Amino acid sequence: MTIITRYVIMQTLMLNTLLGFFSQDMGIDLGTANTLVFVKGKGILIREPSYVARHKRSGSVLAIGSEAKLMAGKTPEAIEAIRPLRDGVIADFDAAEAMLDYYIKLVHQHSPWVSRVPRPRVIVGIPSGVTEVERRAVQEAAIEAGAREAYLVEEPMAAAIGAGLPIDEPQGQMIIDIGGGTTEIAVLSLGGIVLNKSLRIAGDELTEAIIHFARVKYGLLLGDASAEEVKIAVGSATADPSHKELQTVVRGRDLGSGLPKSLKFSASEVREALSPTLQSITRAVMDVLEETPPELVADILQHGITMAGGGSLIRGIDKMIAEETKMPVWITDEPMAAVVRGCGKLLSDDRLLRKVKVGARLR
Ligand code: ADP
Ligand code: MG
Repeated sequence: MTIITRYVIMQTLMLNTLLGFFSQDMGIDLGTANTLVFVKGKGILIREPSYVARHKRSGSVLAIGSEAKLMAGKTPEAIEAIRPLRDGVIADFDAAEAMLDYYIKLVHQHSPWVSRVPRPRVIVGIPSGVTEVERRAVQEAAIEAGAREAYLVEEPMAAAIGAGLPIDEPQGQMIIDIGGGTTEIAVLSLGGIVLNKSLRIAGDELTEAIIHFARVKYGLLLGDASAEEVKIAVGSATADPSHKELQTVVRGRDLGSGLPKSLKFSASEVREALSPTLQSITRAVMDVLEETPPELVADILQHGITMAGGGSLIRGIDKMIAEETKMPVWITDEPMAAVVRGCGKLLSDDRLLRKVKVGARLR
């Protein structure tokens, strides 16, 4: 190594350290439905739907997050509003990269004290189903967006850490994270994933089940957003007396006349619509439990199954899984933020990060 190269390396290192000092380290949950950003020392600063709106021809990005979601289904021919992550895989890499880039820069723009040239450390939660090529691509996108170091953590691991589970101990833990596009079911022990199932059935399918139900039973055409509202307003997994009386009014289009029509949906009929999809999720949980080594099953029986993700907010879903598995089930506080909180915790725990990160660090 010549003296000049050594000098250049030294200078780069010093500059990186200096810029790093002014940067805000970030944890990012790149979810299929929502993207959340945790900034070290500050908490969760961004919660936005994972949507990107762009020009079809030129690919130039028009909006990201809620603004882009509002455009979905209402775009003229030349514009598309897409979800870069569908079914737990990166369906559109350019759009995913645009999202990462936008949020990393956004966080740095907001603070007057921080360098406008961001060099943060970034930890990204990714679905466990993504391929090696996709992982590298996400890491490179973070570096491209200005990250000084980029690490990846699998979502079930991040969710378990976010839920405060002692994942580092010789003790089996089961986590079920029901997101928009995927349900991740994982058994963890000693800081690693022992077993893992990534099911492409989650919140989106529950919403679709309501659309299907409205069309078949009432000849009513519902949009995604209206069906999701019904799910959130009255959706349930068990016939608990407390949600028996729930009702909601939904607006759609009558398939026969083509005119707008409003209808009242009750909790029990929505439950009937959701039931087959919820059963598929329970079946997958049972499959994972069957494959789990008996020692770990005993641990899970003792400590219970932990649930996270927006899908765990369906009323009574914990009770349903508890009845099927004969195990205690609990939902973590603020389940939609578990993954990003986990990434956030890892920003201040290097030892644990080294243990749970996937692949090599990129810088
Ligand atoms: P992802 O990690 O894939 O981005 P999230 O964990 O953010 O997904 O969860 C999003 C899913 O949770 C969506 O399908 C949404 O409809 C659903 N969801 C959010 N809130 C509720 C609720 N209160 N009841 C039922 N489902 C909900
Ligand atoms: Mg998620």
